[in-house]
Amino acid sequence: MAEIFIISGPSGVGKDTLIKKMMPKLQNVFLSVSYTTRPPRKGEIDNVDYRFVSDSFFREEIKNGNMLEYADYCTVCYGTPKQPVEQALKEGRHVILKIERAGMESVKKVYKDAITIFIAPPSLEELRNRIILRKTDSDRAIEDRMNKAKIEMEKCGDYMEIMINDDIDTAADKLAQIINKYIEKSERGADK
Ligand code: 5GP
Repeated sequence: MAEIFIISGPSGVGKDTLIKKMMPKLQNVFLSVSYTTRPPRKGEIDNVDYRFVSDSFFREEIKNGNMLEYADYCTVCYGTPKQPVEQALKEGRHVILKIERAGMESVKKVYKDAITIFIAPPSLEELRNRIILRKTDSDRAIEDRMNKAKIEMEKCGDYMEIMINDDIDTAADKLAQIINKYIEKSERGADK
């Protein structure tokens, strides 16, 4: 059976780098590309990192029922288009969604067996340093993201797996191990 993996974690924790490093260690997996209304950061590529869309396009997609889930995060809209996820599942591919908590809760209502993984920073101070080093956020945006991170970390206990992104290579191995463990379990179940 094709599985859905939801990966959450505060902005700045390094999810993108981690997922990019991990992907070659997985097989038969589709990584969903989200829509966002925020502008690209330096180095981000349209249709690879995100699909960068306008507010009006985003609202229209919601109205037409084309979004699996969507959420506001620090005044920006983010969401998962439904069709590519459904298509991948139909083809028997496992799906990875890199989304925040509200999105996770919406997806769990539709796909109850989705596997939830939370990536935590070694500490909140380290998270602040990583966001500052990224040099893409104003002081106000940094504070917004830090406040959001504190709430996300307090509530992370209801994720099925929690791991710390400390050393990036070790963390990428660990994340691939977690995902492969569930894939193997699901494939063993399908054989019975
Ligand atoms: P960033 O602006 O740092 O790339 O992302 C901000 C937050 O939005 C992160 O926690 C990220 O996981 C989340 N996010 C990215 N794409 C989606 C999406 O499609 N849906 C939801 N609900 N959250 C998303």
